[in-house]
Amino acid sequence: MNKCTILVVEDDPSIKNLMVTTLKTHDYNYLLAGNGRTALMEAASHNPDIVLLDLGLPDMDGMEVIKNIRSWSTMPIIVVSARSEDSDKIRALDAGADDYLTKPFSVEEMLARLRVTQRRLNSVNTDIVQFSVFENGALKIDYAAGCAYLEGAELHLTPIEYKLLCILSKNLGRVLTHTFITENVWGHSWENDVASLRVFMATLRKKLEAKPGSPQYIQTHVGVGYRMLRVE
Ligand code: CA
Repeated sequence: MNKCTILVVEDDPSIKNLMVTTLKTHDYNYLLAGNGRTALMEAASHNPDIVLLDLGLPDMDGMEVIKNIRSWSTMPIIVVSARSEDSDKIRALDAGADDYLTKPFSVEEMLARLRVTQRRLNSVNTDIVQFSVFENGALKIDYAAGCAYLEGAELHLTPIEYKLLCILSKNLGRVLTHTFITENVWGHSWENDVASLRVFMATLRKKLEAKPGSPQYIQTHVGVGYRMLRVE
C-alpha cells in the first residue's frame, strides 16, 4: 500500500493524464494543479508528501514555485522539465528542488524517482535528523567523532573526501549540484573547483565503492552533480 500523496503540477493534459494514471495504478494519492497559483494553494493547504513540478507553467515560472515552497517547507520537489538544458535543472536544484525528470520520460523513470524520494523521506524521519550516526548499507559515519566506516573497518579519508561524504550523506537521495557541493567544501565555486571535485570524488569512490566503475553509493549526474543513494 502506497499512502504517499503527490501534488502533480502540470498544465499539459497528456502528460498530466499519464502521471495521474501511473499514480492511480500504483496506489498513490494525488492532488492536481494546472498552474503555479493553484500549486502553491494546494501545497499549503494539503501538505503533500512530494511535489512533481513542471517548470513551464502558464502563469509563473516553476522556479518561483520552488522558491515560495522553500520559504516555508522542506517537502520534496521533483522538477519535471521539457527543457533538456542542464542549466535549468541546475537552477532548479540550487533553488531547492530535490530531483528532476526530463520530458519525455518513461513511467518507470517517474516511479523510480518517486521511490528514491520516498526512501529519503523515511530515512529523514529516522536516522539522519535524530542521531549523530549515519548508516547506509555497509557505510557508517559517526559525525560527532568525524569517522567513517565500511563494513566495520575505518575508512582512511582525507579531510576533503570526508567533507564530501558528509555533504552527500546529509542530503541522502537529493541530487546536489557541483556548485552546491563546491561551495560547501571549499567555500566558493570557481571553474576549476568542478575539475577538483571530480578528482576527489574518484578517490573517495575508490575507498567507498566495491566497484568504482558501477558505484552503489554515489551516483553521477553528468553535467549536473552527484547524489548518494539509499543502499538496502
Ligand atoms: Ca508546461
